[in-house]
Amino acid sequence: MAIKIDKKIKGYQVVKPEDKAAPAPAAAPVKDAAPVAEVIQMHESLERPETLVGNTYKIKSPLFEHALYVTINDIVLNPGTPHEQRRPFELFINSKNMDHFQWIVALTRILSAVFRKGGDVTFIVEELKAVFDPRGGYFKAGGVYMPSIVAEIGAVIEQHMKSIGLIHDPEMSEATRQLIAEKRAAYEKANSATSTAAVMGATSSAIGTSDTAATGNDTHTNASGFPAGATLCSKCNTQALVLMDGCQTCLNCGYSKCG
Ligand SMILES: [Zn+2]
Repeated sequence: MAIKIDKKIKGYQVVKPEDKAAPAPAAAPVKDAAPVAEVIQMHESLERPETLVGNTYKIKSPLFEHALYVTINDIVLNPGTPHEQRRPFELFINSKNMDHFQWIVALTRILSAVFRKGGDVTFIVEELKAVFDPRGGYFKAGGVYMPSIVAEIGAVIEQHMKSIGLIHDPEMSEATRQLIAEKRAAYEKANSATSTAAVMGATSSAIGTSDTAATGNDTHTNASGFPAGATLCSKCNTQALVLMDGCQTCLNCGYSKCG
């Protein structure tokens, strides 16, 4: 049967046998749908709305002369319904540095395409974070080790996905949390015996430095808030590994070499 098309063709889709089994797929325009519309899922043929909400993240790396600006724009599916969901839709990277322009453009296009494909897109984070720069990585402020600039782009996407609720932090069990708190307290107690003596010596020799003595503990922590001598934990990439009872213990994630 011939069908005359008297409207502009805005998109098309090849009908598969399984589509015929389920008549009237979601191809119908959303605006014509009744208030009780079906739940819209992320799909590659989803049209880009005129306006998208997003965030721009700045990445400053010693490996790059200029900062990178990573913009992730999101689409809000089923707004105002219980099925409301915010999902990343596209990603752009901008920089003054044009050395790696073609690869950066290729990466952003592929990432955007993956976002639009739908399904679980959180795997991207692990893939990117596992990229190592042969020249060596670098430490970010806060003591987190970044093995490459690509890994940091992965970390930015992870941060974004967490902020929109696509990735949930694995809940640390109450027992683990308590164990870490106990270990930290024990470590600080063992160390404060020596540091208090030092502080007391300092105040007695210089009168009027009580303010510095009161905040003296701050100098014993590093940028991430862990004891100053802490080394890098291989599990959580944070400088929170301390030696306790002859055993390397992470005060951030609880990792311990001795189990
Ligand atoms: Zn750790």
